[in-house]
Amino acid sequence: MMEVKIMGSDQRSVRCARVSFGKDDRVDPGRDKKLLRFLLRHRHASPFEHNVVAFKVERERWLKMVSELNNPTVQIYYSGGYVWMNLRSVINCPDLIPEEVKEEIRRHFPATWEIVVREGNISDEELSRLPYTTDRVFLQDKIETEAGWVGLVDRLELGTDMDYYTFIVECPLFVARQWMRHRFGSYNEVSRRYTAYDIKFYIPKYLRKQAKTNKQASVDEPIEEPHNSEFLKEINALVNEALSLYHRMTEREVAKEIARGILPQFMKTRFYWTVPRIALDNFITLRTHEGAQKEIRDLAVAVRDLVGYRGTDKKNRL
Ligand SMILES: Cc1cc2nc3c(=O)[nH]c(=O)nc-3n(C[C@H](O)[C@H](O)[C@H](O)COP(=O)(O)OP(=O)(O)OC[C@H]3O[C@@H](n4cnc5c(N)ncnc54)[C@H](O)[C@@H]3O)c2cc1C
Repeated sequence: MMEVKIMGSDQRSVRCARVSFGKDDRVDPGRDKKLLRFLLRHRHASPFEHNVVAFKVERERWLKMVSELNNPTVQIYYSGGYVWMNLRSVINCPDLIPEEVKEEIRRHFPATWEIVVREGNISDEELSRLPYTTDRVFLQDKIETEAGWVGLVDRLELGTDMDYYTFIVECPLFVARQWMRHRFGSYNEVSRRYTAYDIKFYIPKYLRKQAKTNKQASVDEPIEEPHNSEFLKEINALVNEALSLYHRMTEREVAKEIARGILPQFMKTRFYWTVPRIALDNFITLRTHEGAQKEIRDLAVAVRDLVGYRGTDKKNRL
């Protein structure tokens, strides 16, 4: 029998979709299955990327799969004797997936798979009868830092470069921008087009000095008083004023997608991040380094504390 390992559940895609409106902790199988159908029908497929399938096959079998692929968007990785694919890629080339693997996928994602097979043509009544799988826990572990927090949702570890991890990260916008430059992985984030829910800001304890030797860095000491306290007071006032203007605009029917332009970069965002080990270690190497900004550095240390660090693989030279 072929060895098949899976990370995720029907609910995992739903949670990663619901983070858009900040409701990823909701559990309602009836509505969840309708959301899965909606995602499939409307090609909102990125939430499926947070589910991962690994199956053990000979290298030749993997090469044959790749050679028969006629969709250049599908990613089929091979590491440690396993083929690694996320559920989105699986959905995009079902004919290439071995039958035994498909059986396991059907068992793990019964609602998603039935909706896929039916191409979204499934009634509410049929949906209500479909089995539905949920996550065991919301978060396995969580570490707070001054600027935000990171939590481990799940991991699939088989001792390979492509072992997969899913995290939730809450951090200021400017940290998220830095984070999402790490492209090898999948992201789903709160949408401020949708929701005005739970808007929070990070305000540093003190304002770090500009570094003299490195134009993009700071030194970990506050600027002189009374300027530090006065600027912090002004920042607090500005943030509160921006939030008040935002709410006044949305109450007068200004669309959230345009009103959000007033909210400063200190605003926090939240996203799901699913990443293979090789890219995760690359992230830890780059972002725990003293050259990285303190706020992302603290969070990268938290990531390392949650799942360890195997070092940057030498074959990934750049
Ligand atoms: C201190 C610091 C300062 C930075 N300053 C800036 C800046 O001023 N401006 C800016 O734009 N970015 C900046 N960055 C971001 C940086 O350029 C990288 O985008 C980021 O660190 C992600 O690294 P990565 O590309 O190795 O990771 P990933 O995007 O996760 O990629 C992982 C690995 O996959 C491979 N890979 C991924 N995509 C490709 C591709 N398209 N082609 C070939 N190989 C690929 C590479 O081997 C890569 O190492 C900075 C990063 C740091 C740490």
